[in-house]
This record gives sequence, C-alpha cells and structure tokens, in this order.
Amino acid sequence: MTFDKRKIVLISAVSLATLASVVAIVPPRPDGAGASRGLFAARTPETPKPASLVSSNANEVRLAEAVDTVATAGTKAVETVEANAVAPAVAESAAQQNRALKDGLNWTFGGKPQRGWAIYVPLIQRLIGTEDDAASAGFAASVARWQKRVGLAASGVLDEATLMRMISTWQARRRKGSTYPRPDELLTVPAAEFWDSSRADDLRQVERQTYAAYKRMLAAAVADSSVQLASRNGELAASEKYLKIISAFRSREYQDRLRKLEPNAGRGALAVNSPHFTGRALDLYVGGEPTITKDSNRALQTQTRAYRWLVRHAERFGFCPYFYEPWHWEYCAP
Ligand SMILES: [Zn+2]
Repeated sequence: MTFDKRKIVLISAVSLATLASVVAIVPPRPDGAGASRGLFAARTPETPKPASLVSSNANEVRLAEAVDTVATAGTKAVETVEANAVAPAVAESAAQQNRALKDGLNWTFGGKPQRGWAIYVPLIQRLIGTEDDAASAGFAASVARWQKRVGLAASGVLDEATLMRMISTWQARRRKGSTYPRPDELLTVPAAEFWDSSRADDLRQVERQTYAAYKRMLAAAVADSSVQLASRNGELAASEKYLKIISAFRSREYQDRLRKLEPNAGRGALAVNSPHFTGRALDLYVGGEPTITKDSNRALQTQTRAYRWLVRHAERFGFCPYFYEPWHWEYCAP
C-alpha cells in the first residue's frame, strides 16, 4: 500500500514536470488575442507597427515611448528594419535639404517668425539618438527613424511638420500647472550659489526637492572633467559662473513688479502663469547674456560645454528643458 502510494506520487510528479516543459516550449500563438499578443510582439522578429500605434496625435509621446521600449527590448530585427528607414541615396538627398533648412526653414513660435533650427540641434540630436552632424546623411537617417516611430513620413528631412512634432514632444514633458508652493516648501539658497551673488534673499528661494536635485546634478557636472568647470572640494568654485542659478522662485508680486518695470520685456518676464511660480523652474547660466532670447545669444549658449552637458544629463536628475530658452530648466519629477 505504502509502495503504491509512493509510486502514484512519483508518476504524478513526472507527468507534471513533463507538462510544464511542454508548456514552456510551445510559443504563444501569433494570433493569440489580448494579453499574449504583447508578449509575442516582444519576441517576434517583426517591426512594431508605428502607423497603428501612433494613430492619435494626443498620445504621441506615450506611444513613441511604447515603441522605444519595444525597440530597446533587444530585438535585433527591429533595429535592422529601423536602420533601413531610408535608403543611403535618400539619406544623402535629405542631408542636402537639411543643410539648407537648418538655417533657412521659416516657422513661427508664440506668434513670432523664426528661422532655421540650428539652435536646437543639441536637443534634436538627443531626441533622435544621434551625435551625427546636422548636415550629414547619418543625421538624416536618424531623423527618418524618429519620423517612422512617431508616424510621420520617414523622409529624413527635418521640415516644419517634423520640427513641430519635436517641439510638441519637448513641451509635453514639461511641468503641468503652476501650483504655488507653501512657504515651508521653499528654502533660501546661499548667495554664493547664485550667478548674481548680490541678489536679495527673497529672490533666492527654490523648492526643496528641486534644490536637492540641482545640487546632485551640479556635483555630477563638476566631477565630469569634460565640462571644465572650476571647482573646489568637489563644489563649484566661487569664481565659476557656469551652471549657477540666475533665477528660481518668482512670486506673483515680483512678476507684477517686473511687468511694470519693463513693459516691453519678453514673454518670459510677462508671463502671468510662469513656471517660476512653482519654485521648481531654474534659470541656469549657460553662457552669453544670461536670459536674452535673441537668436545670436541662444546660438552661442547652445554651443557651450555646460549647455551640452545639461542636454545629455539633466534628465537623469529629473530636469527637463524648455527648448526655446537654453537657460530654463524645470524639475519634472513628480
Ligand atoms: Zn526661466
């Protein structure tokens, strides 16, 4: 009796193990509905379907990220198909057009005519995942891959529609709303950490988490010798201007005062609902005239080592850029 019982138990265990291994080898069916489809999509050597994935513009960013996830999941086939988004000859001709559009494309932003997209090249390179020169065939091929991902025609030409889509992607990542901080959510930063060390106490307030993230980011920038920041004991040297805070929390009263003092000031200063109300927006010194939107000034700023470092690394510390103002960074972590 005891022997029989043991035998039954043994047989059952073997059958269960066999069943388990059979289940493990049989792949999910390609036509499987619902939950198994996602799993299959990740395994199959098939391109994600950008057209169906990005049918809705409103969901553009989330969907592009979904495609990114699939693309980085390790499926070599996806990379191969994406690399062939445009043929070499097409990429070369797109590069020629990009060479002209870089400084010549006419578009508008905030009701103001704009020319070219050269100023935004570092952000564009970051977005489309390339370090290739904006006039190169490699850059055009990366533009085409990105266009394909977001459901645009994969021409490799950085035309107005593509630029607009890039801008809406950047803008969608910024802080939503402008909640006014409670007094205990703000702290006053030492004067020496400001670009203008004579700035008044009430103008040196920053939201606490934002400040902590800024300090972590600053330490990383100082430690990175390629940025060439002057430092002392791992901290930014007093003499160093780059990456110091120009402006952070701005109260409604202060913003009103600015408006009265400079009736012709730029859009940023006039903003009735500025992200600076949150204490989570930082204007950082990235070169040139600190916060002047003139094209020549912004072109200079976006060439500096400090700015380029921010474009590559700020996201890691929770900061996202405002594409139009190289100095303006917002703490976007929840
Ligand atoms: Zn700002």
